[in-house]
Amino acid sequence: MSRMRQRHLFTKTRKEAPKEETAKNAKLLIRGGFIHKEMAGAYAYLPLGYRVLQRICTVIRSEMDAIGGHELHLTALQDKRIWEKTGRWSDEVVDNWFKTTLAAGGEVGLATTHEEPLTNLMTEFIHSYKDLPVYVYQFQTKFRNEKRAKSGIMRGREFLMKDLYSFSRSDEEHNEFYERAKQAYHNIFERVGIGAHTFITSASGGSFSPYSHEFQTLTDAGEDTIYLDREKKIAVNDEIYSEEVLADLGLSKENLETVTAVEVGNIFSLGTKFSDAFDLTYVDEDNKKQPVIMGSYGIGPGRLMGAIVEVLGGENEMLWPKEVAPFDLHLLQMSDDDTTYAEAEKVYRALTDAGVEVLWDDRAASAGEKFADADLIGLPYRAVVGTKARDAGGIEFTDRTTDTVRIVSVEELVRLVAENA
Ligand code: ATP
Ligand code: MG
Repeated sequence: MSRMRQRHLFTKTRKEAPKEETAKNAKLLIRGGFIHKEMAGAYAYLPLGYRVLQRICTVIRSEMDAIGGHELHLTALQDKRIWEKTGRWSDEVVDNWFKTTLAAGGEVGLATTHEEPLTNLMTEFIHSYKDLPVYVYQFQTKFRNEKRAKSGIMRGREFLMKDLYSFSRSDEEHNEFYERAKQAYHNIFERVGIGAHTFITSASGGSFSPYSHEFQTLTDAGEDTIYLDREKKIAVNDEIYSEEVLADLGLSKENLETVTAVEVGNIFSLGTKFSDAFDLTYVDEDNKKQPVIMGSYGIGPGRLMGAIVEVLGGENEMLWPKEVAPFDLHLLQMSDDDTTYAEAEKVYRALTDAGVEVLWDDRAASAGEKFADADLIGLPYRAVVGTKARDAGGIEFTDRTTDTVRIVSVEELVRLVAENA
């Protein structure tokens, strides 16, 4: 539904967040009716929150499709035998599995990630150099028995992940894709509104380049410490921070700031670690058997949503960037009289006809309540209809992203918003 009358929205805002909730993102999102806390580390997404999550996924999906990704959907249930091939079934190696036993016998786990099952699956389809390269991705619920779950939706025990996996013929082919993925990630963080706060960060692990890369968003709510060169817009994480690494990356200590951040995404060259374990090979042009070169590329859409709130949210208000806002415009109807209702309906029609997504606050509530709720819901545009605005000559329009307010006609409103929505 691309428009909604607020009297039909079953969620209600709340003045206070639950006492036990400590993370700013969860507090604001619960107060706005975006999410519901099921238990520590598990949150339900309510209609407003689910719209935001979906819009974040839409941005990610478009960037993954643009670099040649094909979307699929693997299973959450995992077969122990597949994971034993890499040793990652063991609780000593992976310490956050949720495992259970089948009634029919046999052990299964809930997926923490998907390298193993996907590599195994690809052995059915990849045989020749003609079958490569392949880039596949999914949006999947992952399960991790995290020890700490105090960062709201930024660290769930159940959470959504977009994970893309690349299968390439050579290091060069892999590296070329890796760079494209890097750029796609920059685009994503820019489009969801936290590009200026998000920095590519060299981290440990990686197969030819000695590094993998994390995308770290600066916020005190993060759990990571990174060393940032603001001018160069690159950082190093604390696992690899050393004189040697700084020299290698062309960074100097004097230019680095120690900052707190949250990892919103990461990209990783896997080399042949998984293809070796599953004997995923292809026959090249000279009829020689070669191992497939792999990479993995993750983003947590829920964590990203939490990071957006941490960065852009205030004490009692949110301001969603345009690409991810649950609706474009909040239409506030200031009284219940027939004239105001008719005017609100006219504005609602005109805007939605022009493709603008509108949330119409048509409830019988006080102006104070409506404004407080609108602040919590956090839409980028706001239009107020009522006696006061009418006396001033029309509709009071606020572009909250630029903090500009003016009185406009319906036609002007449609033009101003439809242009930018
Ligand atoms: P962290 O170091 O923060 O625990 P990770 O390195 O284990 O994360 P990956 O396994 O690489 O993360 O997962 C890919 C992406 O999934 C991360 O960049 C992050 O955006 C997201 N993610 C990871 N763990 C969680 C979680 N518990 N809750 C929500 N999102 C998560
Ligand atoms: Mg990490």
